[in-house]
Amino acid sequence: MDSLNRIHEAPVGHVERAAVHRKAKVKTEEPGAARPHDSVEKSNFTREDRIRIAFARSAKGGAAVMKKATGTYSGFIIGAAIGFGLIGGIYGPVIGGLAGSIGAMVLEEVSSKKKAEVADSLKHIGSSVKKSFQHALSIDKKVSKPGQKDQPGAVQGAREVSQAPQDVKESVRMSAVSAASGPEQGQSPTSRVLGILMKPVHAAGKALQALPKFLYPSIRNATAAERELIEKTLDQLPLKSVVSTEFITVNPNLANDMNYAGLARNLFFMHPIDFDKGELAIEGFNKGTIIHEVGHTRDFSESLVPYFGASSKAPWGKAPYVYDSWIDTPTDLYASTNHWEDFAQSYKFYHENPAELQKVNPAKYEAIKKMEEPGLYDKVMDKSGIREAGKKISQVIDKVPGLRLAIETVSAISGPLTIHRGSGKIIKSLEKGDAKELFDGKMDLASGIAYSSKVAAPAGMAIDAVHWYLNRAVKKGKISQEKADDIATRTLSFAAGPVGLSTHAALDEMLGTEDTDIKKIQLVEPKDKAPVPFIKFTWKRPQADVIINGKKVDAKDIALTKDDKIYIAKVGGGAAVGGVAGTVLGYAGGAAAGAVLGGLIAGPIGAGVGAFLGKFIGSFALSSVGAKTGARLGKMLDKSPEKA
Ligand SMILES: [Zn+2]
Repeated sequence: MDSLNRIHEAPVGHVERAAVHRKAKVKTEEPGAARPHDSVEKSNFTREDRIRIAFARSAKGGAAVMKKATGTYSGFIIGAAIGFGLIGGIYGPVIGGLAGSIGAMVLEEVSSKKKAEVADSLKHIGSSVKKSFQHALSIDKKVSKPGQKDQPGAVQGAREVSQAPQDVKESVRMSAVSAASGPEQGQSPTSRVLGILMKPVHAAGKALQALPKFLYPSIRNATAAERELIEKTLDQLPLKSVVSTEFITVNPNLANDMNYAGLARNLFFMHPIDFDKGELAIEGFNKGTIIHEVGHTRDFSESLVPYFGASSKAPWGKAPYVYDSWIDTPTDLYASTNHWEDFAQSYKFYHENPAELQKVNPAKYEAIKKMEEPGLYDKVMDKSGIREAGKKISQVIDKVPGLRLAIETVSAISGPLTIHRGSGKIIKSLEKGDAKELFDGKMDLASGIAYSSKVAAPAGMAIDAVHWYLNRAVKKGKISQEKADDIATRTLSFAAGPVGLSTHAALDEMLGTEDTDIKKIQLVEPKDKAPVPFIKFTWKRPQADVIINGKKVDAKDIALTKDDKIYIAKVGGGAAVGGVAGTVLGYAGGAAAGAVLGGLIAGPIGAGVGAFLGKFIGSFALSSVGAKTGARLGKMLDKSPEKA
């Protein structure tokens, strides 16, 4: 067979590597990490207060990291979508995605800085570059005015003290995993207008994200015959595979340009497929190529972490491999290229020649068989009526140019943008000591986490509804802001999963019963520090000044002592161990209990529903119990005598 018939693609692009890189960087700043400051001197604060302050600080750091990461990711999505729609081709989304990411990082950096800081930073770039930069950003006049008023700092913040709700303990307690809203102050008119324009888009995105996935991919540049071939082939695959790709493009030059018959790309938020027009005309080979590429997109979509698809673990990437007479020679098997190709080739065989796959490699056959079995969700969704609707609606949407791309983009961006907004509110609330904003941020963060996953998105809608209701209830005086904040804390720790629940348990154990004189914690960026580079590729920011009840405190006074750190490690470690153990037990136990209960009520389907719900309820309930128990144990085991 000539080399044109090779099915090939490049699933690992620069984009993916960049993302992995970004992940690793995020990890370097650990929330809750002890400060490298050991004080032997007597502190004026109790251990609980020191921990309280330390957690507020790490919450602010964590929120800053999340804000940057989600801002950059949103920029990537928008850029990649524009690149996909306007530039097109194979590199369009990569170029657009990179440009979008960089643009978002610059925006993020500029917007997080005070005007004077921006001017300082700009001095670091050559003066000519500086001029053009300032000109381009049209901030030249504003940045260079020396006497201009600074950001709301300590003084201005202190003026707001009187209005703040009293119990900081409550609002800071969960800040390590937390987040805050309200009309943002100090916004430029442009960003206010942008905000107003974005609101309905954001709302639409969230609603779309909460809809179940059932749309067939948009098929572009295809003749009627090609469309029929593609749709008919998709009809033979499970719906979860069909919806794993959003765009299928028939490309007349793919084989000429790149020597590929098909190409599936992982853009994280989308998995578009291209087919070569000529190759698609080869009877017998074409269907297999379609299944192969959809195998890739299914692989990409089978994971929570973008880079690691289903094929990243055993048995993929290990011999024996299938022999494909269309493209292989006995000594050169395409499936042996890498684990992605192994998976896609095996997927093709599973649907075209299952007996052969079973004969060559039973483990691979079983792995795909398990994947293809309909889960509860599929049992509900994968019906011929829903499939037909998905096909028809997709065809109607395709009649409006750019609509499908807009739908995919706004729904993909809804989660990151909500997290971004929540993180911003948390940062602001911790600077101002504003309990209402902290509450809003936590709720936004919780719903953003939910919207970031297609499966959990409906929970995001529920969280938004609770958020709206609580804000109203507080306004009408039905419940206190503290009570609302407590609910936000619980919602957030629930949304953050076992990690959130464990952190909540640990903080609860350490701070829950202690009284404090701290009414308000503010973390304000120090003013006169050395200028920082314009764009810092580091996630760390200088240590903020800590203002307690309106007064700046000495860093030595609030630094965690060695014993404090041991204590935190013990309680936190206990909570983490307990939380993980509880999750495992709860998952298994909940599934079993749910299956039995459901089976009693409604037979096999009921057992399926019960097991599904039981897993969730079980793992959440027990991870919470486990974390609490672990934290308590850790506290009991702590022998360090120092209490103050
Ligand atoms: Zn492939």
